[in-house]
Amino acid sequence: MRNLTDPVRRRAARILGQQPVPVGIAGGVFSISFDDFPQSAWEVAGPILKDHGVLATYFVAGGLCDGENIGKRQFSVNDLQALFEAGHEVGCHTFDHVSALRIGPAALEAQIARNARWVSERLDGHTMTQFAWPFGDVSLSAKAVVARHFEHSRGVRDGVNSGRADRNNLQAIGLESRRLPHYDLEALMARTADSNGWLIAYGHDVEDNPTPYGCTPEDLVRIIEMARQAGLTIAPVSSAASMMASTRI
Ligand SMILES: [Zn+2]
Repeated sequence: MRNLTDPVRRRAARILGQQPVPVGIAGGVFSISFDDFPQSAWEVAGPILKDHGVLATYFVAGGLCDGENIGKRQFSVNDLQALFEAGHEVGCHTFDHVSALRIGPAALEAQIARNARWVSERLDGHTMTQFAWPFGDVSLSAKAVVARHFEHSRGVRDGVNSGRADRNNLQAIGLESRRLPHYDLEALMARTADSNGWLIAYGHDVEDNPTPYGCTPEDLVRIIEMARQAGLTIAPVSSAASMMASTRI
């Protein structure tokens, strides 16, 4: 499909190669995730999550460690180890933060293997079971690769996962300053609760002056409080998946 344009390939991958799984968690569940990830997703967001008794999922790209991305300093090994010890989940986001539309299946396999090794060496043998697509870019051939390694993969397409959801491209909303003003969060939360669904949010930096891809500390607090008001359980991606398996209704 290399002669097709990226939007066509993305659309094809959304429609084709689906592996629908039933979603059903009594009362609905909300997962918070951070991608890449910028240091403030731990230094600033970590204490907020702790104050509210919330565990999140950090989708890590090992190659970004100690580096800079979207103009923001990225995590250190110390950050990664600290959040893991605090009980947060660490998931996979490829090693070099590379789009699945830019590389073939063999290179994607190598990216996944390298990230798995890198994380395992730093987190006491931890095996990542969940994946997030860099840039939300999904291709059909990549889906087949990722499905072999991970229970679920999260994209960036807006929406609540309910009824049946593609385990290889779960929908999610952006904890992003460019997107947040356009959501009716209350309605999304209510729909999640009513449909026994799964709402996943993803973000990057958490700062007073966030990038378009990040949010403020107040945004994070607000979304946690709204989820609680809607009666949603808040759990990392793999925990939500386990709840689905055990309490499917
Ligand atoms: Zn990313």
